Amino acid sequence: MNYSDSERVVAVLENAGYTEAKTPEETDLFIFNTCSIRQKGEDRVFGTLKRIAGLKNANPRLLIGITGCMVRKTSSRNSTKKDKDDLLRSFKSLDFVFKINDAQHLPTVLTEAEPNLELEIGDTDTQTANEQDEYLRITPKYTSPIQAFVPIQIGCDKFCTYCIVPYARGREKSRSMQDILNECRKLVESGCKEINLVGQTVNSYGLSQADKKNPGFGYYHNIKSGAKPTAPFIKLLQELNALSELGLSRLRYSSPHPRDFTDELIQAHAKLKVLCPHLHLPLQSADNTILERMNRKYTYEDFSEIIHKFRKALPQAAVTTDIIVGFSGETESQFEKNIQAFKDLDWDQAYISRYSERTGTVASKCFPDDISREEKSRRWHKMNDFMKKHSLKKNREYIGKTLELLVENFNQETGEAEGRSRENKVTQFPGNKDQIGTTVLVEITDALEWVLKGQTKS
Ligand code: SAH
Ligand code: SF4
Repeated sequence: MNYSDSERVVAVLENAGYTEAKTPEETDLFIFNTCSIRQKGEDRVFGTLKRIAGLKNANPRLLIGITGCMVRKTSSRNSTKKDKDDLLRSFKSLDFVFKINDAQHLPTVLTEAEPNLELEIGDTDTQTANEQDEYLRITPKYTSPIQAFVPIQIGCDKFCTYCIVPYARGREKSRSMQDILNECRKLVESGCKEINLVGQTVNSYGLSQADKKNPGFGYYHNIKSGAKPTAPFIKLLQELNALSELGLSRLRYSSPHPRDFTDELIQAHAKLKVLCPHLHLPLQSADNTILERMNRKYTYEDFSEIIHKFRKALPQAAVTTDIIVGFSGETESQFEKNIQAFKDLDWDQAYISRYSERTGTVASKCFPDDISREEKSRRWHKMNDFMKKHSLKKNREYIGKTLELLVENFNQETGEAEGRSRENKVTQFPGNKDQIGTTVLVEITDALEWVLKGQTKS
């Protein structure tokens, strides 16, 4: 999501007349797009900010700003409004901060921070709509011509007790299906082959409280009784599947929530040919007491059932997850259940996080952060060591198989090209730079923990 947001910020800056700087010394503007999920991310921003601030001595034109989850109020150091964001008070070298959904107004914020700036306040700074998701209308400066992240919703209504997102990103609201389809169609017409739909709980697309009041999703919510029509997320996937005729070959989404994971979605995976055989479904904990305390509103058994059904429908699919270790009150045996789940559900990989208490969340008020740093670290390493062995075993199952890769990079030094398979397996093979952006068939000859090795099929 942040990656995609940054692409929109870049587009606004280019419209205002900025160009990309090559070195920190020649840079006149730094913007940190921040994530507040864990304290570590915030600490890294503060550390880098202090270093960057030193450049102001040699370059008095330099402006520094922050956006993303750390920002609560769009404001600048020259703002006359009283309610400036706390970050501006804490960091004297910070010139401005803006909420990401104010991205289209960035030139105005910059001019307030530095009145001598001569910016083009053009198309993107419309000032017209106050809609929270208006910034998604900005056409991003896509980083890659072949792959794109496309946001389909903002915010989150789930309020998992450990998570800052509902506070940082606000209420869940879906983007209009027409806007998404327009963006995707344009992407595909200009050569994009892979689209990744992003949002906090993508499979609740069109179903949030705010969406209920939106006439665009009314066809779903206004059905009083009887069978519901196709859910908005499935409808979106079906519409996007039709873009295969224009050249779209891969569609992914991240992240779905287990609570809204329906049989209809599993059937869509089996039916829609652009949808990739990869499911990233976050579990967080394999223990039901912990899940309840996290307010995830499903049990480990509910989750396993989804995975079993999914694998039955798509036996070739790769399945990955997210796990938090060291959440409040987690005992050794509750932690060990995560490792058992790894074996039972046979995940390809997991993103393992150490619980990081976030101020303002329900957990920070009600559940003490009572697992020590050292213990969280021990659990993390134990689980990670297990995962390394398991992922290697899973990757070795691909040896001898042929995978279709979309080539993303070429490394001049090693002579290897790198791409991802439809299962999302990173694969390297002897290749050349002209293969970037193309699809090649590769026979897998070797497997490491995080990467497969192969040879192109002649
Ligand atoms: N919306 C997604 C997850 C988004 S946050 C979902 O509900 O599954 C991405 C991941 O960060 C989460 O899956 C979780 O594993 C991790 N995470 C979120 N808050 C955290 C916290 N306070 N401490 C540690 N990890 C956290
Ligand atoms: Fe955070 Fe839970 Fe929302 Fe995911 S579903 S973003 S973990 S509150």
